[in-house]
Amino acid sequence: MALTPQERSKNMSAVRSKNTSPEIKVRKELHRRGLRFRLHKKQLPGNPDITLSKFKLVIFVHGCFWHQHQGCKRATVPATNQEFWQRKFLANKNRDELVQQMLKDAGWNVAIVWECETKSPEKLYTKLDQIFSSLQLDNKTQCSQTTRLKKFT
Ligand SMILES: [Zn+2]
Repeated sequence: MALTPQERSKNMSAVRSKNTSPEIKVRKELHRRGLRFRLHKKQLPGNPDITLSKFKLVIFVHGCFWHQHQGCKRATVPATNQEFWQRKFLANKNRDELVQQMLKDAGWNVAIVWECETKSPEKLYTKLDQIFSSLQLDNKTQCSQTTRLKKFT
């Protein structure tokens, strides 16, 4: 089932919309942990979805389809207009890599939370724990205390 140009542009604008629901889930979980963050910081490459300056950390919340999450069942290529999609996905991938490299070069920790990792609160909880425990920071002890404060039951 091919998309009309109208449908496609509607889909594309939905993708660019800033308050996608996986992103909101991540924000809620960070809130729950009492963490402070900024959204879509324009001064940084790629306007990261979430910036936690205290941890020198940026988080991108990526849609599995648009950013072609490797090995994920949501990362399908539509059967029609394959060339279009492949070009589109490649452009996204190149852009993601470039942006992440620029951020890393500037001393930021870069983390990706995939849409499918926000599906259940437990999954998201584990993912965020992994992110925070992998941070290379002087104040790591303080960091894990803050982020592990409230455990899911
Ligand atoms: Zn995925």
